[in-house]
Amino acid sequence: MRRAAALLALLSVAAPAAAELPRVLVITTGGTISLSGQELANAIPQLGQIAQIKVEQFVRFGSSSMTPEHWVGLSRRINEAFASDPGLAGVILTHGTDTMEETAYFLHLTVHDERPVVVTGSMRGPTAVSADGPANVIAAARVAVAREARGQGVLVVLNDWIHSARDVRKMDSNRVDTFQSEWGPVGLVDSDRVLIHRRIVTRHTTHSEFHPPTAPLGEVPIVADYAGSDGSLIRALVARGVDGIVVQAFANGRTSPGTTDAMRKATEAGVPVALASRVPEGRVMDTQSHGLVIAVGDLPPHKARVLLMLALTTTRAADELNRIFRTY
Ligand code: ASP
Repeated sequence: MRRAAALLALLSVAAPAAAELPRVLVITTGGTISLSGQELANAIPQLGQIAQIKVEQFVRFGSSSMTPEHWVGLSRRINEAFASDPGLAGVILTHGTDTMEETAYFLHLTVHDERPVVVTGSMRGPTAVSADGPANVIAAARVAVAREARGQGVLVVLNDWIHSARDVRKMDSNRVDTFQSEWGPVGLVDSDRVLIHRRIVTRHTTHSEFHPPTAPLGEVPIVADYAGSDGSLIRALVARGVDGIVVQAFANGRTSPGTTDAMRKATEAGVPVALASRVPEGRVMDTQSHGLVIAVGDLPPHKARVLLMLALTTTRAADELNRIFRTY
């Protein structure tokens, strides 16, 4: 009898009442995971054992329709949710995987709170055999309530791996293990606990100098270099008056003669050029920087674009832009 009472007491410690569970806001945006609020709750009843969940739909479309205006709106909403609710444990953002990297990195640079923002999605739709969405949302919820995940910046959680928004890349068009980081994941979601085993040292969230801007972000297109390019796309963009350009160059920022010439003319016209590479690994080194041509280090072109757009909200000075790219 006494043993039964002790067991009951133990169980009530192990399984807290719903009202005692941490609170998590889930913001949905569509994508393959594409679960609306109620669908999410019905599909994943286990969520209710991890956290008290409130679901909010922000938009519902494939992430190829995401725009910088949506990044700003999401960042404002998440900052506001944290500011208005000190007891909120964390935020989960469900998002299509195609442009998850850009949205996550923008939030990493503009959400000013140390509580976890966890971005997740899925590679297989809800009706597929072995759909990965439910497991990814459960893993995301476990990270969102984990004390260890605080102060780590925005995290991308899929396939049980925890990646930093800064480093993560989608590397395969179809596989569930598509998300990888050049420097390795920051942690993993194991069945017993959430494990963080690496801390990134670039600035983010509470240490970031960037905020969701009030004015629209500047126009910053990405231009790919290629063998035999005559640089005419870059010249046309400069003539159009764009605010900055990201060049997807060859390894370590090397460019064709046509692109090199067009980049020089762009910077002479005062248009900053961020020099990224089409090679997925390895840096574009600082030695490639000269004035308004900024070497982006290990950022891929689409993340360099996010950083340049934010940097241009605060400065156009070459040395400041270079400092920003070395810092974030
Ligand atoms: N088409 C999807 C998207 O919205 C792909 C995905 O979610 O995996 O990005």
